[in-house]
Amino acid sequence: MKIQKAEFLKSSAELNQCPETEWPEYAFIGRSNVGKSSLINMLMDHKGLAKTSSRPGKTQLINHFTVNNQWYLVDLPGYGWAKVSKKAKEKFQLLIVDYMEKRKNLTNVFVLIDSRHEPQKIDLEFMEWLGELGVPFSMVFTKIDKLNGNKLNGNLKDYRKKMLERWEEVPVSFSTSAETGAGKLELLGYIGEINR
Ligand code: GDP
Repeated sequence: MKIQKAEFLKSSAELNQCPETEWPEYAFIGRSNVGKSSLINMLMDHKGLAKTSSRPGKTQLINHFTVNNQWYLVDLPGYGWAKVSKKAKEKFQLLIVDYMEKRKNLTNVFVLIDSRHEPQKIDLEFMEWLGELGVPFSMVFTKIDKLNGNKLNGNLKDYRKKMLERWEEVPVSFSTSAETGAGKLELLGYIGEINR
């Protein structure tokens, strides 16, 4: 899929502030600093579209972008940042629970995972929860330019193994880099296929 137009639409602090549900919606989420803003900017060919933040965990908003006047890309707040207050964490959880449970046009969630690390409990639990809710999701491994092929394959294999302990099959996954553009065609192609 070619990106002809990608524009910021609005930020919402609550589900009922989110835009109309007439278009399919694809959400991106992951731990703070996982490379979410960089990935969104890379996918959309638009450097400043999603704000890369030097203060992870700062944004607790649901950010909607319109793409090709056909679908919404949604930048969700990052999870698992130790420095935010307990109150902020609770607020985040309520917002995300509401969104995941109730957003009618939510078509797929892309769960971003830093490819440099071994499987992390917080990511595994998050995906488990999505599964329980019946929300379709895929795994997106980020920053693959930061490690060599062997190490990457080893980490991906560990993830597959971990996922198979809980799931019958491994979810669709993508290996990406905001630096090199790796994974862009695959990921956008996947959205294009679902949208057809
Ligand atoms: P976010 O908090 O998840 O939105 O993460 P950012 O997009 O702000 O990225 C966090 C840090 O990782 C920044 O310093 C980015 O430059 C860096 N980064 C993000 N993606 C990549 C990538 O694909 N490759 C490399 N080498 N660095 C990346």
